[in-house]
Amino acid sequence: MAAVVLALSAHPDDIEFLMAGTLALLARSGCTVHYLTLANGSCGSTSLDAAAIAAVREAECRNAAKHLSAILHPALTNDLEIFYEPSLLRRVAAVFRSIAPDILLLHSPQDYMEDHMNACRLGVAAAFTRCMPNFITEPAVAPVQNPVCVYHAQPHGNRDQLNQQVQPDFLIAIDSVMECKSAMLAEHVSQQAWLDQSQALSAPVEIMRRFGEELAKPVAGCRWAEGWRRHNPLGFCAADANPLRALLADYYFAL
Ligand SMILES: [Zn+2]
Repeated sequence: MAAVVLALSAHPDDIEFLMAGTLALLARSGCTVHYLTLANGSCGSTSLDAAAIAAVREAECRNAAKHLSAILHPALTNDLEIFYEPSLLRRVAAVFRSIAPDILLLHSPQDYMEDHMNACRLGVAAAFTRCMPNFITEPAVAPVQNPVCVYHAQPHGNRDQLNQQVQPDFLIAIDSVMECKSAMLAEHVSQQAWLDQSQALSAPVEIMRRFGEELAKPVAGCRWAEGWRRHNPLGFCAADANPLRALLADYYFAL
């Protein structure tokens, strides 16, 4: 079974940090991958203005998506302007319906950053309204009927906004695609300097590898993993649907 997958994140580089290993395995298994980062990265610089850095970050996002031949959808708003509100929800829902994915990959509902949590809620709601003719999207897109299985990635650093450890339901072992994931994250050249200045985070690729190593500990012989939790299937898909397990059986480890 090849599936259509939508990875929906808040910012350029979130997908590479949190989801790209799983996406690379899905792409290799024949799935079609779509990318949507809700915000354009407009606050990710201390030297370029918002429009200039947004253009740089779109180019970086495009370069990262190319590694998976992923289809990139344009950002819908500015950094720090991802709110759970009707007009943005209508726009997210329009993109969702135009793709009609079988699998939706989202941020953790709990995370250190408000944009991440709001992007998660918008993704969940956009999927939930997919078959409702009376929820009018912007632009108007006809409802779709197919089930969608929703998964949540780990929060950044595997910790929530209260700095508590978040335990995934299952792991995907990503050793075989770690070089691809690292190369994808390294495409976000502008962020190496920015993270160093703004959050004292240097070497994003090293940080990402460390988080992946932390997750992989329960699996013997696995060095790096990505963690996932499945959203409650009610309103989305069959109770026992778990396409990540079906598609990535060789890499899937329930915890
Ligand atoms: Zn982010």
